[in-house]
This record gives sequence, structure tokens and C-alpha cells, in this order.
Amino acid sequence: MKKITIAIDGHSSCGKSTMAKDLARKLGYVYIDTGAMYRAVTLYAIEHNLIKEEVDVEGLRSQMENVNISFLFNEATGRPDTYLNGTRVEDRIRTMEVSSKVSLIAAIDFVRTAMVAQQQEMGNGGGVVMDGRDIGTTVFPNAELKIFVTASAEVRAKRRYDELTAKGEVCNLQEILENVQERDRLDSTRAVSPLRKADDAIVLDNSELTIEQQNEWLMEKAVSVINN
Ligand code: C5P
Repeated sequence: MKKITIAIDGHSSCGKSTMAKDLARKLGYVYIDTGAMYRAVTLYAIEHNLIKEEVDVEGLRSQMENVNISFLFNEATGRPDTYLNGTRVEDRIRTMEVSSKVSLIAAIDFVRTAMVAQQQEMGNGGGVVMDGRDIGTTVFPNAELKIFVTASAEVRAKRRYDELTAKGEVCNLQEILENVQERDRLDSTRAVSPLRKADDAIVLDNSELTIEQQNEWLMEKAVSVINN
């Protein structure tokens, strides 16, 4: 069967990774969460004192070659865990602190160049579901299937709140809503590879859909492309 490349882009916290992961598992494809890579660079910058009021861009540039990101499949969760320089950072990259800084780091040109090169190498050869902000526009502009996912900011903030609360993190719904809106703003207005729908992407607004419904919708789209 033909192995295609599937690009899933969209706004923050709209369930892209949930649907991408499910689809990859069903198709036997590799799943790559590119947001996790920008989050890992952000964690590195925080832990190396490279973010104060602003990002120490030159400091980060000089240390960029020390930032090694990899993924290792976790049998227990059925998804890849993110590693930064050999240490598992899957939980530490999902905190509010990282979420509040990641869009600043993701706007830096040399960070994007390094991440995009790695993503292209990981997805080379197809059989991959990759989610992010610029997969269909920059990383794999020739992807056979491109999806652009969105949902209202309120729905997205509530989902994120429920996710963090379930993990035991104390958080505030209003603060999360502001973070979601601010990330949308920064991601859509940055100079390098801004978040935008690729012209040939199919839009999915999942505000009113259950996880099962959105997974089913996506599977149908993928099967129709694979069989054509
Ligand atoms: O997908 P997630 O919300 O974990 O992504 C975190 C942040 O990483 C986004 O808000 C965005 O700033 C950045 N990002 C990006 N390009 C990607 C994936 C994520 O700029 N392909």
C-alpha cells in the first residue's frame, strides 16, 4: 500500500496531536510532534538561563549545536516520548512556563532552520503523520494530505485546562485562555514560516466534535488519499 505524508497544522491546543497520534497508530505510520521539538529547545533555553525579560538570541545561537532532540517510542503510552540531550523531558516541556515562552523561541530563524531540517530528515520516505504549524506550508509542502485544524479559543483553553488538571498541575483557565490567544497571535504574525493554512489544506473545525468523531473524519480522508 502507498505510504503517504500527512501534514496536520493548526492553532494551539486544538487536539492535533491526539488525532495525529491515533491516525499514525492505525496506519502503522511514524508520528512526529514538531511542537515538542520547539518546546524542548525552549526548555533548554530556560534551564540555561537564556530567557530573562527577552530571549538571549546570540547566547542560544552559540549553544544551538548542544541541543539534541530525539524521540523514543513509549510502549506504555503508545506514543513517542521527547528526549533532550538523552533525558526524557516529555512532562517538563508541557508546563505553563514552557508554553508561555515557546512561541518566542519558535519565531527565531536559526531555531526553525535546525528543526525543519531534522523534521524533513525524520519524515523523508513517507509513512509519516507530522503535526505542527508549518508542516503543510514549509516542512512538507508536497504532502499528499494536509489538514488545518481549528476550534474556538474558549474550547481549546478548556481542553488544555482539563489536560493539565488531570496531570495534577495547578492552573487557571483564564491564564490558559490568554496563553492560547497569545500563541495564536505570535505564531500567525511571525516573520519566518507563520502559521497559515496551506492553500490545498482541508479545514477541520472540531469545536463540536468528540475525539472519536474527529478521528473517524481524519481516517476517512487518509484512506481516500491512500486508495487513490
Ligand atoms: O503544538 P504545540 O502547541 O505543542 O506547539 C508549541 C509551540 O511551538 C507553538 O505555539 C508554536 O509556537 C511552536 N511551533 C511552531 N512550528 C511547529 C510546531 C510548533 O512554531 N511546526
